[in-house]
Amino acid sequence: MFKGKKIFVLGMGKSGCSVARLLSKDNHVLITDVKCDDFDLIKELENLGVNVIITKNQAEIFDDSYDYVIKNPGVRLDHPIVIKAQKYNIPILTELEVAYRYLPKVKIVGITGSNGKTTTTTITYEFLKAAGLPVHLAGNIGYPLCSQLDEIKKDDILVIEISSHQLVNLDKFKVDIAVLTNLYQVHLDFFGTFEKYKFNKLRIFNNQDEKCLAVLNKGDKEVYELTKDLKVRKEYFSSKDKADIYVDDNAIIYKSKKMIELSDIRVKGVHNYENIMAAILVAKEFNVSDNVIREVLNNFAGVAHRIEFVTKVNGREFYNDSKATNVDSTITALKSFDNDIVLILGGLDRGHSFEPLIPYLKNVKHIVCYGETKNRIKDFAIKNNIDVTVTENLDEAVHAAYNISLEGDTILLSPACASWDQYKNFEERGDEFKKIVSELN
Ligand code: ADP
Repeated sequence: MFKGKKIFVLGMGKSGCSVARLLSKDNHVLITDVKCDDFDLIKELENLGVNVIITKNQAEIFDDSYDYVIKNPGVRLDHPIVIKAQKYNIPILTELEVAYRYLPKVKIVGITGSNGKTTTTTITYEFLKAAGLPVHLAGNIGYPLCSQLDEIKKDDILVIEISSHQLVNLDKFKVDIAVLTNLYQVHLDFFGTFEKYKFNKLRIFNNQDEKCLAVLNKGDKEVYELTKDLKVRKEYFSSKDKADIYVDDNAIIYKSKKMIELSDIRVKGVHNYENIMAAILVAKEFNVSDNVIREVLNNFAGVAHRIEFVTKVNGREFYNDSKATNVDSTITALKSFDNDIVLILGGLDRGHSFEPLIPYLKNVKHIVCYGETKNRIKDFAIKNNIDVTVTENLDEAVHAAYNISLEGDTILLSPACASWDQYKNFEERGDEFKKIVSELN
């Protein structure tokens, strides 16, 4: 706990503000950002006694009188404040570490990995909730732990999504069950090298002892190699080989027994089976029954905007994959379907190539494009002999896709581009897609 300390909070995102609120009760808190247009938020924090300073020159307002720096996880490690704090030997923490120090005795499930964090975290939470357990969802998924402390009681279970950035400044934070979904070469701009990125992921196991569990992807070589010498209990999932839980004969096999047929699982794609298997291994630690697991998987339609089933209209199934803001994510979506697809692509033009999609376009019978990238996508489709329709916006694109499609087709929004040419974020784009689809009839 923190009392009478002088605390410098860097970054006014959700987590920074929630930590400032918490610490303002017993400490002197300054929070700063380079910009903030939310005057209600500033007023609210000031009313709590927090000193709010909006400035581009943050290093000028920082000195060695502070006891702690609480850094937004996204702030780079070469930020002047980080460098100065290290020089003054001032501990740098993140919101998650602060929240941890206020928790009663609880069980913590921490979920990290390059991809699939939000989906695995959500499915795990759904299993535990459906089993009637006292569970809370927190972390990188959009709910800072600091803002939930009032609701958390002794012996509750916390399912926490933890990004690689959040892992950097963890100190005492102990995860009872750690999940590592996979490792890809991402965030290299932040960590410098893949090696550094990978070793940072090991921090999730830092304070674990032999009683703790690590849930690991055996089918991911990087994960397997990185974790094989860990001195904790391990349970493996794999979509490739035999493991504690694996996929075989169109079913999920848990401890050598068939648990559920893939056809009884509503979400699509091998990547989602991996997320589900990781979540099952966690659920089994809490003795969730096979029946509860099956029921959740029968009904769970996916996390919003990630290959999310929207609805069926006149025999066409609509899927919203607005989170696919790059070509790799669109490839993951395309691998998840084996029927004919009308694919909606488009959005912000970063000058990126669509060529990596080519091997995965076998079922794509038509591309409908829109937004800033529409003409580049048109050229790409023509060059690869795929029928294409050019539209201006998502509304026109959805109507065009619907008119082109036949019964039995999938209409997939997996745009392979960021949304910022026409939307505030991918969530807004996905919500608009769902609204347009819902008005189709
Ligand atoms: P994260 O929270 O790690 O960003 P999400 O669960 O939000 O991951 O999924 C984001 C996207 O990542 C999905 O739309 C899909 O394209 C891809 N993805 C999800 N799970 C996996 C997985 N297990 N392996 C590879 N890619 C995945």
